[in-house]
Amino acid sequence: MHETSIAMGLLNSLEELARKEGAKRVLKVKVKIGKLSGIVIDSFVFAFNALKEQSPRLKDAELIVEEVPITYRCKECGHRFQTESVFFPECPKCGSANLELIRGEELEVVNAELEV
Ligand SMILES: [Zn+2]
Repeated sequence: MHETSIAMGLLNSLEELARKEGAKRVLKVKVKIGKLSGIVIDSFVFAFNALKEQSPRLKDAELIVEEVPITYRCKECGHRFQTESVFFPECPKCGSANLELIRGEELEVVNAELEV
């Protein structure tokens, strides 16, 4: 499972971070997930919550997911817009399909709260 290995990777880096900082527990972690990242958020949260039980440092960590909308910039007219459409999006201003993806593919940790 895609989401399981990503959740595992996140937990490993949190464990590493907590160890480095000499923290007893990780209380909270906030991540941004783009709609085009291919990650199913529900599955990701489920996997995170199941796997975190294995670590005393991580078992109380609350996962907060912020979903990042897909944002394009039109290369013809420069218009920036958000869309739900993953396939063949068009600029709502000029109808061009010549677009540059600005946001929506990311998976990043925004911050983590540790108990020292
Ligand atoms: Zn345009």
